[in-house]
Amino acid sequence: STLSLKPFLSSSEARSSNGGQSSSPSGNFDPSNPINSRNNGMFGALGDNPLFAGGLALGLMTAGFQLLRRTSTRALDLARRQMLVTVEIPSTDPSYEWVLHFLVENQSRPGGNADKITGYSLPALLARFKPSPRELSVETRAMKTPSGASVVDFVLVPGQGKHIINYNSTFLQVSRTRDPRRSNPSGMPYETVEITTLNSRRSVLCELLQESQRLAMQRAEGKTTVYTSRGISWERFGNPQRKRPLDSVILAPGVKERVVDDLRDFLGSPEWYQDRGIPYRRGYLLYGPPGTGKTSFVKAIAGYLDYNICLINLSERGLTDDRLNYLLSNLPERSIALLEDVDAAFANRRQVSEDGYSGANVTFSGLLNALDGAASGEDRVIFLTTNHEDRLDEALLRPGRVDLKVEIGFATLEVVDGMWERFYGPCTLPETVMLREKTEHLKQRFVEILRGGKLFEAGHHGVSTADLQGLFLFFKNDPEAVVKAAEHLVRAKNAR
Ligand code: ADP
Repeated sequence: STLSLKPFLSSSEARSSNGGQSSSPSGNFDPSNPINSRNNGMFGALGDNPLFAGGLALGLMTAGFQLLRRTSTRALDLARRQMLVTVEIPSTDPSYEWVLHFLVENQSRPGGNADKITGYSLPALLARFKPSPRELSVETRAMKTPSGASVVDFVLVPGQGKHIINYNSTFLQVSRTRDPRRSNPSGMPYETVEITTLNSRRSVLCELLQESQRLAMQRAEGKTTVYTSRGISWERFGNPQRKRPLDSVILAPGVKERVVDDLRDFLGSPEWYQDRGIPYRRGYLLYGPPGTGKTSFVKAIAGYLDYNICLINLSERGLTDDRLNYLLSNLPERSIALLEDVDAAFANRRQVSEDGYSGANVTFSGLLNALDGAASGEDRVIFLTTNHEDRLDEALLRPGRVDLKVEIGFATLEVVDGMWERFYGPCTLPETVMLREKTEHLKQRFVEILRGGKLFEAGHHGVSTADLQGLFLFFKNDPEAVVKAAEHLVRAKNAR
């Protein structure tokens, strides 16, 4: 190899010292040329040096390897592009969440087409082989209930990195990556999921996307999805919850009908609003003591109308006017916004200008602005709840902000009756006719004790439906014990 190199080096040296022109007319090496013969002599001497020749050979081999590597990488890249197909799903797309959940669920569900393959052939064994994402990450979502308790929900999804899964007898590579330099509107790092398969099986990607969407819809069917706010975006809170039936909420006669009829009328008349150029939105204010069923009622209405719920607690720290405005202007489809503790925007308010108030979180003027915000073409239904109606400002009660104000008060006689029937009625206790008569009698006694304790009188402290529910739950198979406990309940209420 040393020998074959010498002429090449000599010739290039000759070309460079000759202004790029070959020293011979034909451009070939001419040993008779004095310059060439000088160079030849010098390189000839170096060429004879085994150290120099070895180094040169090594250098050339390295260059050769690098060239080979680069070529093979390019060839592989080309082959990959021709043979593989990848779909990228960014975390800002709704299908991102569906796919992540599906990837974990896919392992536990029956094997799709694979089920049709029987026996112990290689395809059958491969079809049954289901490598599952081994590195999972947990998504914890927490929210505060109106009673102040924290509710937490965990969802397991594939973690960051690469996973191999078998879907419909096709092996797919799933790669979940995070870009820490970018973040989505809710302030979370921007992520993507890439799913790669062989070009010849590209249809499997559509199948997977469709199936994950179908399963997500199935999960939500007959259920109410609750969204909570994270930053300036709405995020699904845990799995969709079973719809709460309207008749499971027991309210004073006529209250339910008043709200539901009004809402149905509103949802049925978008043209009426459009024709008159009125923003298509409706606001309801439910007020009354805690535990009387305000939140439960809104959830039941959402279930009844097949809507979802977007929950915002106005006393939440860090909820600013801008965030509230943005959130209310960008509600997910078919959602009812439920703004709880609306009086929080009025608490500790300090007037800073003629028309606005400044507070720690959402301010009074911020709340009004958000309620007045430009409604989209879609309907916008907002329910406001408060335990302190007396703290609200008249400005809130204008049409367009609050169109219907409804009191959900302490339990009335009818509510106690309804709650009793739910717990000890004919369908709930294993009873005979005798027992039915007995429970009727016990109910009368229970009601008499509450009445004697003035719990149904205006101006007195009443009993909330949540109190009744707590008591009936405690003695769920023992209505007699409930009657005995009623005396304690009355004493406790009147002691306040
Ligand atoms: P609020 O929003 O008025 O504070 P919630 O709706 O959160 O009250 O009710 C708290 C608990 O009490 C829930 O478990 C709910 O099921 C029960 N509850 C309260 N009021 C009613 C009602 N009117 N009918 C049925 N259940 C009720």
